[in-house]
Amino acid sequence: MTTSAPKTRVVVLGGGTAGWMSACSLAKLLGPLVSVTLVESEDIGIVGVGEATLPHIRGFVERLGIDEAAFMQATHATYKLGIDFQDFGRIGESYVHPFGTFGEEVAGVPFHHYWLELQRQGMTEPIGHYSLAVTAALANKFRPPTTDGSLNSTYGYAYQFDATLFGPFLREHGQTLGVERVEGKVVEVRQDPESGDVTALVLESGRELEGDLFIDCSGFRSLLLGDTLGEEWEDWSPWLPCDRAAAMPCEHVSEEISPFTTAAAMPAGWRWRIPLQHRIGNGYVFSSAFVSEDEACEAIRSAAEGERVAEPRVLRFRAGRRKASWQKNVIAVGLSSGFLEPLESTSIYLSQMAITYLIELFPIGGQIDPRDRDEFNRLVDMEYDRVRDFLILHFHATTRDDSEFWNHVRTMAVPDTLAEKMELWRQAGRIEKYSDGLFYDASWIAVYIGQGVLPERHDPRTRLPDPAQVARAMGGLRGRIASEVAAMPGHREFLTANARRLAPLS
Ligand SMILES: Cc1cc2nc3c(=O)[nH]c(=O)nc-3n(C[C@H](O)[C@H](O)[C@H](O)COP(=O)(O)OP(=O)(O)OC[C@H]3O[C@@H](n4cnc5c(N)ncnc54)[C@H](O)[C@@H]3O)c2cc1C
Repeated sequence: MTTSAPKTRVVVLGGGTAGWMSACSLAKLLGPLVSVTLVESEDIGIVGVGEATLPHIRGFVERLGIDEAAFMQATHATYKLGIDFQDFGRIGESYVHPFGTFGEEVAGVPFHHYWLELQRQGMTEPIGHYSLAVTAALANKFRPPTTDGSLNSTYGYAYQFDATLFGPFLREHGQTLGVERVEGKVVEVRQDPESGDVTALVLESGRELEGDLFIDCSGFRSLLLGDTLGEEWEDWSPWLPCDRAAAMPCEHVSEEISPFTTAAAMPAGWRWRIPLQHRIGNGYVFSSAFVSEDEACEAIRSAAEGERVAEPRVLRFRAGRRKASWQKNVIAVGLSSGFLEPLESTSIYLSQMAITYLIELFPIGGQIDPRDRDEFNRLVDMEYDRVRDFLILHFHATTRDDSEFWNHVRTMAVPDTLAEKMELWRQAGRIEKYSDGLFYDASWIAVYIGQGVLPERHDPRTRLPDPAQVARAMGGLRGRIASEVAAMPGHREFLTANARRLAPLS
């Protein structure tokens, strides 16, 4: 890495998860090419939610040189093997969207086609029985996967952590990486009169923070990209009408800690349950068009198990994103660039990806190439759009007709991009192939099958092998999964045996 170019002065506005993730990554991965200053205001605070993640976060933690055990201990983290969706397709039915695959491809034909064929022949075994991640999750077991190509390498894991502790943990780490932290409220933004580029942030104290590149991590306020540059907002609420959440932590009620997040459908949205080491995070994500804030708070009080640690706190949001996340010399990361409800725990992932793309396309020396900016915006849009379609599927693919909310989402028109994907599945049991972005085959299969959307046809090659042989092979796989899971330690047992991961009891 050359150090002859002048350092690019990066100013990060905001010290929430997105701000500290950005500051740490830039300082660690661009090193001497940048100077990083982060300004945050304790008076304003952070959004303080965002507890469930995707497996990609592990790469992030590792790349920053953070020790996993220390990180888990500091953030009271647990392991996560997937999400248990309850009552989405139909009341009384549930399925797990795992961080892992279902079965194995045979003779070039994906496993789910064999499962569909056996269903046609009358087999009733859920597809989850052919996933190690699903089976382990539902048995409250956990062991890290291997990388040897065996059955034990067919799953991944993420973390569930205390969102109020993640930012401070990164803050400490960031300062060891040379990030300068400034406490203060930004009250004015200076711009170059000709180019419109941001030149400095003015603090209440009068201090000015000058920079070449500004990362807007100011949360829903979107102080730089939204307020200052006026970047347009693309509203997705017609498809994703939830616009509020009532969040409420509770005590654990059992010795077991589930290694998964639960998303349970509710009359006007859905409810999360996220088990951490020391408590359970709960929240009702709802649409204010269908239920009032008071009713939603009452609903989460009644639905959550365990003694309340705090009363419900209502957060307000809109689904959508800024038309472009990078304009002039401002790049928005996190809630300032867009928001999609946490149904698939994607927000921190979206911040992580934006940071990754920024580092790949970073304007070394401060000179921005408009082609890099366009490419960044294309990639970030692609990530958001993919997640949007996948989330809409969970609401739209339902037979529920028991409330106005479910009638609305079941009958609404969906984006063409999703309609095309659903048509491909309905006709032939096929999943659109992606080379990048979220989500891959197993995720779509989990939701389609889990919510009762079965295709009219599946791959006819599944009828070529002897049916008895296929049934035997499937039975063998199920047996191997069951015995692997039986040999795994319980989730709490694994956390306790690796005590460095456990936070001290307060
Ligand atoms: C209900 C809900 C549930 C969620 N659940 C999940 C989940 O399970 N998984 C997931 O991945 N994500 C989840 N998210 C999203 C997640 O919370 C965010 O992606 C994450 O916290 C990042 O937030 P942020 O850093 O962008 O904003 P914030 O945390 O709001 O931080 C904004 C920062 O900007 C600073 N700031 C603002 N204005 C000024 C100013 N004028 N001067 C100085 N500083 C300023 C603030 O002080 C703060 O430090 C959830 C979000 C909501 C609303």
